[in-house]
Amino acid sequence: MDNNGKRVALVTGATGGLGTAMCQQLQKDGYRVCAHYRNPDKLKEWQEKMKAEGFEFDCFYADVSDYNSCGEMIKKIESEVGPIDVLVNNAGITRDKPFHKMTYEDWDAVLKTNLYSVFNCTRHVIEGMRERSYGRIINISSVNGQRGQFGQANYSAAKAGMHGFTKTLAMEVASKGITVNTISPGYIATDMVMAVREDVRNQIIAQIPVGRLGGTEEIAYLVSFLASEKASFITGANYSINGGQHVY
Ligand code: NDP
Repeated sequence: MDNNGKRVALVTGATGGLGTAMCQQLQKDGYRVCAHYRNPDKLKEWQEKMKAEGFEFDCFYADVSDYNSCGEMIKKIESEVGPIDVLVNNAGITRDKPFHKMTYEDWDAVLKTNLYSVFNCTRHVIEGMRERSYGRIINISSVNGQRGQFGQANYSAAKAGMHGFTKTLAMEVASKGITVNTISPGYIATDMVMAVREDVRNQIIAQIPVGRLGGTEEIAYLVSFLASEKASFITGANYSINGGQHVY
């Protein structure tokens, strides 16, 4: 498949706050970017917004909590666009509740969307990457997967699980030119965080030594670097981007 020498990058959860910044940065870097979406209504509006900002992406549907749905999406991308060189496992949800009120459904939905999704997508790209001896897998975890957080037993468990996955897969595929890394963002100025009541948001900011929320583009810059050929000696690593909120 001729992509004019461009590498192909797939970003899951592309229509969200962080996903959008990642797609834009990767396109600026010269990738052919495949933007994954779930909600078709949201997609149309997003595509129009992207066009107005000068970006155009190939968009593909999947429910990332479903193994076969991810398989179908990746098959479609590889036949219509080309082999995937970079996979950013970014889609995620929260269903926050204190543990004594957390239902099985809250647990199940968060584990399936945030952790099983990583298996579901990575499993379908890994053999191709091994055959081509090149790949970049970037998993988006969270500061709350490193340190825990009230009301997030499900989310913290899923995000913490990504670290074990990353380290193991990194060892298994290192000799094949494939790197696997995790990024753990702290609080980033996405719609979700900006919708938090101002006084609560200010309390959060007060816990961040840098004194502000992170920008979506700051996460995207690191994705850009880890996706690049320059980052070939970085694998099995976790990068905290949290303004000093959690240091260890
Ligand atoms: P958003 O809620 O803005 O975006 C999440 C994306 O995931 C959406 O595109 C959503 O699609 C998609 N998604 C959710 N469930 C599914 C599913 N079952 N199948 C397919 N797609 C799905 O989140 P952010 O951009 O803020 O976060 C992106 C990632 O970064 C997440 O993994 C999050 O946990 C992590 N993170 C975010 C932080 C922040 O401060 N924002 C901090 C630390 C980590 P749709 O809209 O169609 O449902």
